[in-house]
Amino acid sequence: MKQRELICSRCSVRQPFRYHNMKCVCGGTLLVDYDIEQIANTFSKTALPYRSPSMWRYHELLPVLDEANIVSLGEGGTPLLRMPAWERKLPLGQLYLKREEQNPTGSFKSRGFSAAVSLLKEAGVHKAAVPSNGNAAGALAAYAGRAGIEAYVFIPQDCPPLIVQECPLYGAHTFLVDGFIHDAGTIIEAGAAEQGWVNVGTLKEPGRVEGKKTMGLELAEQLGWTFPDVIIYPTGGGSGIIGMWKAYRELKALGWVSCDMPRFVCVQEVGCQPLVDGVSSPAADPSGTADTAAAAFKQPVAPNPTGMRVPAPPDLPLLLAIVRESGGTAVAVSKEEIAEATRQLGAQGISASPEGSATWAAMLRLCDSGWLRGQDRVVLFNTSHAMKYAQPGDAARSLPVLRSYTDFVQQQGQ
Ligand SMILES: *Cc1c(COP(=O)(O)O)cnc(C)c1O
Repeated sequence: MKQRELICSRCSVRQPFRYHNMKCVCGGTLLVDYDIEQIANTFSKTALPYRSPSMWRYHELLPVLDEANIVSLGEGGTPLLRMPAWERKLPLGQLYLKREEQNPTGSFKSRGFSAAVSLLKEAGVHKAAVPSNGNAAGALAAYAGRAGIEAYVFIPQDCPPLIVQECPLYGAHTFLVDGFIHDAGTIIEAGAAEQGWVNVGTLKEPGRVEGKKTMGLELAEQLGWTFPDVIIYPTGGGSGIIGMWKAYRELKALGWVSCDMPRFVCVQEVGCQPLVDGVSSPAADPSGTADTAAAAFKQPVAPNPTGMRVPAPPDLPLLLAIVRESGGTAVAVSKEEIAEATRQLGAQGISASPEGSATWAAMLRLCDSGWLRGQDRVVLFNTSHAMKYAQPGDAARSLPVLRSYTDFVQQQGQ
């Protein structure tokens, strides 16, 4: 039987496993803790080549007890694409792109919600709710649909319309919110007792961090059980950073990998950059008790409603600690840099979301500044694809319309 407990990432207190309320009394976040010795005795990396490429190939390191409760749509197992042409042009060692847009819901949110919804099923939950800039809503909607759980999703009204439209298609009760993602979260909290839904927002339950952890496990496996030197990740609430950091600590504890931790780089968009501000002011919040929500209202918020637009990450001190301890950094890129990066990735055959594009822009910035070194093995995350963010028809409407080859020739002549 799998041994799982919770451990506080701030004060290290242990608690029995539970399905929600991940806040420790000290204010830190509770994370799932496994009996690594027991896992080391029963799970070996030599078993992996015989398993399916889904993220559940690492089920020993995931919190679901009975495999019958796994809710899967084929998540994980995404390609790690090497980019040799740019490697030669840039002052770095190796450059890879992790193609997370190829997940079943078109973003890496599939991983987190496959794990979270599996835990909801295990706990016998019938109703779940999430505040989201879009992709989390779509992923909850899809996985809840698959599991027969009722989903309620709350999305700021300026979020990409195609992502929003996909939620009712998966059968979710879908609501737009006049405000930001934390305002959507407030609605869910206010209704929790009366509506009986479980909040699966970032760090509200144990599954999403564990699901996103599989990005780190998979990456290490794809790199021959080594870590990259640098991970450049578009950060919003930060569950992906926490997940990958946790993955690498577990792989070290298992003795499967012995190299140094990667340097974690968090990328945000100018105007909504709590991590960038936190990293650049080392004196800020040494106790880790700052009221991040209050701080958020002082910030001008970037107009782009992307997964990075989270003014008040639920555990900013943990994210800052991971970035600092790993020797990483945080970078804010502009809307224009993101747009240019989307074009550069597109020209290489990659449909990149604004968030994925932001990692490319940040990488170029870190090359220019000399922060990336000549031997660095660098991994970027394309967390979703461009199509989900399209304003329907915009690009297509400006294209020439032909009735014959003569029209084509005339067009070319213009
Ligand atoms: C949610 C999201 C992010 C941010 O991920 P976190 O792990 O929550 O910080 C980045 N990109 C996309 C496409 C997202 O949907």
